[in-house]
Amino acid sequence: MRVTETLPPLGEPARAYLEGGPIGHWIDGGRVESASGATLSVHDPATADQICEVAEGGAAEVDAAVAAARGAFVNGWRDLAPHRRAGLIYALADQIKQNLQELAELESLDNGKPIAYARGDVLASVAHLRYFAGWPTKIEGATLPVSAPDTLCYTRREPIGVCGQIIPWNFPLLMAAWKIAPALASGCTIVLKPAEQTPLTALRLGELAQQAGIPDGVINVVAGAGATGAALVDHPDVNKIAFTGSTAVGREIAAKCGAALKRVTLELGGKSPNIILPDADLEVAVKGAFRAIYFNSGQACNAGSRLFVPAANFDSVIEQLATRAATTKLGHGLDSTTELGPLVSAEQRQRVLGYIEAGKADGAEVVVGGTANAEAGDGYFVAPTVFSGADDSMSIVREEIFGPVLVALPYESIEEVATRANDTEYGLAAGVWTRDISNAHRLAAKLDAGSVYINCWGVGDPSAPFGGFKASGIGREMGAQNLDAYLETKSVWAKL
Ligand code: NAP
Ligand code: MG
Repeated sequence: MRVTETLPPLGEPARAYLEGGPIGHWIDGGRVESASGATLSVHDPATADQICEVAEGGAAEVDAAVAAARGAFVNGWRDLAPHRRAGLIYALADQIKQNLQELAELESLDNGKPIAYARGDVLASVAHLRYFAGWPTKIEGATLPVSAPDTLCYTRREPIGVCGQIIPWNFPLLMAAWKIAPALASGCTIVLKPAEQTPLTALRLGELAQQAGIPDGVINVVAGAGATGAALVDHPDVNKIAFTGSTAVGREIAAKCGAALKRVTLELGGKSPNIILPDADLEVAVKGAFRAIYFNSGQACNAGSRLFVPAANFDSVIEQLATRAATTKLGHGLDSTTELGPLVSAEQRQRVLGYIEAGKADGAEVVVGGTANAEAGDGYFVAPTVFSGADDSMSIVREEIFGPVLVALPYESIEEVATRANDTEYGLAAGVWTRDISNAHRLAAKLDAGSVYINCWGVGDPSAPFGGFKASGIGREMGAQNLDAYLETKSVWAKL
């Protein structure tokens, strides 16, 4: 079937990009087909229709991309004057901004998210690049007070080299920006592997980098599935891996990087507790709790998926959440009236529905939702779902569902809730809703989480570190701390 027959209304740039497919990898500044001729089919998650095809990379394409990245690293990028590197990162941010509508349409169509949120992701990507564009001119070493006489000792902070970056499908462009910005700022070069479900905006990013004047080979994008990511992790000439995705794949990558002594940072899953304290403004808390779980259809690593509610307020909070859930409009991401899009794939919908069935079988009660949306045709929709009556040992309370499924849990005391909130292998985010500043900050200190939100959820800024305690990851993204993941420290000694 021709792409034009199935595409929803799109602006001319997005349409032209898709009709130019199958879209090749971006390697050394050009579009490249796979040597094997293999392609991946990309689908609109709201309809299950094919959008286009992209090349599916194997070891040969990974090898070519790594060679291009190594060439660009040693032949200029690592030694480029910091102010020039800064200027090129700013220029890439400008290119993204200039193509805002096209990128947002591609993202909405590819991932399913509402177009307004897709535009937000593009603007957040611009902000991220601009923040890191400020860093190349500020990466400093130190002069050290060594005790040896007539000796100068100083440190240099040098780029690690070629970085393999593997990203998921929930925020495709934004995750690409989170990965490439600190690498570029540090003087590293990149081979990026987008998720097989959502490769479109990352592939487009390669072209935009070239238009921004970034030298060919500095950013390479190889599309493909898990095996393509594994080939990148296994490649001996890759110095560092940065990964965002599932905890299972994260563990596998960490083990491989450990054996090869490659640098590695991991941004993994979560089962984040969101705690309403008895004195909270309930209306604000319910609204915030709703957004904390259903934003991006629950497909966010920091989703507030366990909601702790004072037993005395439990019925009222559940009722308010159920009313909101039942009146939320599901639909195509490109329909501007849509509030909640589909899940990314049939596989993800199946996984989420499987957790819902497991919750019911374990004896928890579905208050609202609990099914695929019957009117949605072939689209991968799941209705916003709230469970009550669950106990802390059930899989719906312990495991990351990554879909629009909230488990509400009553509690009696603050001591109890802090212990239960931390009773998870994860530690990505946590929330507290209260008017009592002492309790807010006491709990913030007690919760095992990389980010704690007080009377809000999911706020972020390029300057604020983001990452996980425990099984939620290793290292931090965003902020000055993220540069450490892309730099080696060298001590230089000179006898005077
Ligand atoms: P995933 O398999 O971990 O995918 C993340 C990225 O890693 C994708 O680019 C993926 O390629 C790649 N990959 C897969 N196997 C690999 C391997 N062995 N070596 C190197 N790279 C590999 O996640 P998923 O299967 O898409 O989603 C499954 C679950 O993971 C979700 O239900 C959710 O619980 C969790 N998840 C978490 C996040 C997060 O932000 N923390 C994001 C997405 C998913 P493919 O595209 O081919 O899989
Ligand atoms: Mg996978």
